[in-house]
Amino acid sequence: MRGPRPARLNNAKTGGLKITLGEMRSTGVRDLIVFCQDYRCGHNVKLSAAQVDKWPDEIRLSQTEPRFACKACGQRGAILRGGSEATMMAVSQ
Ligand SMILES: [Zn+2]
Repeated sequence: MRGPRPARLNNAKTGGLKITLGEMRSTGVRDLIVFCQDYRCGHNVKLSAAQVDKWPDEIRLSQTEPRFACKACGQRGAILRGGSEATMMAVSQ
């Protein structure tokens, strides 16, 4: 891991990175947004509930983050957040 990690996004729905998909679902959140690891890029993509539903409950969000690569800048790794509001990116830095 290199460089400063972005400050935790202001997302009261899902809290920190350690929660599992099952825990997230228990709060009523079924969508995920995948943010580029590089905050200067800021690219993000929404995963619909239909896509997220294919993943088992015991998977942690932090486990899946390294599997993504940014389509805009090529940065490997991502930041996952529950919810469907991409505008939350605006508060991260
Ligand atoms: Zn990017």
